Amino acid sequence: MKAVVYKEPFSVDVEEVADPRIQDPTDVLVKVTTSAICGSDLHMYEGRTGAEPGIVFGHENMGVVEETGSGVASVKKGDRVVMPFNVACGFCKNCLAGRTGFCLTVNPGFAGGAYGYVSMGPYTGGQAQYLRVPFADFNCLQLPKGTEHEDDFALLADIFPTGYHATELAQVSPGETVCVFGAGPVGLMAAYSAVLRGASRVFVVDKQPDRLRLAGRIGAIPVDYSKGDAAEQIKEQTNGEGTDKGIDAVGYQATVAEGEEQPAIVLNTLVEAVRPTGMLGVVGLYVPADPGGPSESAKKGELLFRIGKFFEKGLRMGTGQANVKSYNRQLRDMIIAGRATPSFVVSHRVPLEEAPEAYQHFDKRDEGWTKVLLKPEMGNGHKKQKVSA
Ligand SMILES: [Zn+2]
Ligand SMILES: [Zn+2]
Repeated sequence: MKAVVYKEPFSVDVEEVADPRIQDPTDVLVKVTTSAICGSDLHMYEGRTGAEPGIVFGHENMGVVEETGSGVASVKKGDRVVMPFNVACGFCKNCLAGRTGFCLTVNPGFAGGAYGYVSMGPYTGGQAQYLRVPFADFNCLQLPKGTEHEDDFALLADIFPTGYHATELAQVSPGETVCVFGAGPVGLMAAYSAVLRGASRVFVVDKQPDRLRLAGRIGAIPVDYSKGDAAEQIKEQTNGEGTDKGIDAVGYQATVAEGEEQPAIVLNTLVEAVRPTGMLGVVGLYVPADPGGPSESAKKGELLFRIGKFFEKGLRMGTGQANVKSYNRQLRDMIIAGRATPSFVVSHRVPLEEAPEAYQHFDKRDEGWTKVLLKPEMGNGHKKQKVSA
């Protein structure tokens, strides 16, 4: 089958790789209809992780079941399904507690597994024609048959639940004010989720005009940090107080307005922008080792975090990757009911063959490239679809 393969920093190719097959009776094979490119793929793409050449990318996958193992009970050939990016067993103590992002079974020696991601286990990514899904009864979320809401449902694999998880970590309640750092797809989903949860005002911080425009479209207040300190701008609009809650949807590759990388800048600005006793939800990625980090301590995953100010203000912080399975069914039902349309972030739908150039555009944050969906069935010769914003 064809798949998107990592070659070296800033290079992926579409190559023939071995077809996946049923390995365990609890597996299914899915024919991929949509697999999204994610901001977290870019950390690997840029060589900022330990990812080795040859890895097939793709953890945001949906499609139609092609074949089922003999031990699969609830999923049948022809079912339309979307898979959480977390690979999880469903029976370990973390899964039983709903913490499926930290499954103890699927990636021995580590808490948590994922498709197509460095150090997340032996699960080939879904930016390909087919995908093997382990523990399929647990990992497949059933969708209505057909093609309706395809782009919305595809976002249930990661970014919609991850954005929602950020608001859960920050315990966003009705009427509260929230600031979200990063207007990439996850930041926009976090802002959207805060709106869905009844926040009174949601500030979204970025410097990319196209992304700030999208934030404005969902009723958030754009804050351009290239026009002045973000925390100051937020305080000015909240009676000098700061917001009730704050969300980091940027992570360790954070930059100051002039472009220099400062891995702790978003965390430290949040400490400033959120009011005393507030709560931070951190879903932007931080890594235990960053070979390309801008300092010796950053290379070891050690950041200069303003713990003193954090303590003085009595702030709290929740961190970690989303337990997608805790939210995906409910968010699916909001999509079906017309209460949520997360696909407003989708900017491009392209066939697999165009993945290399799509990665380049998305990596450079080229104007208008907010979220790319790969459509393996579009095949050669089809024109890519630019979604009008
Ligand atoms: Zn993702
Ligand atoms: Zn588990």
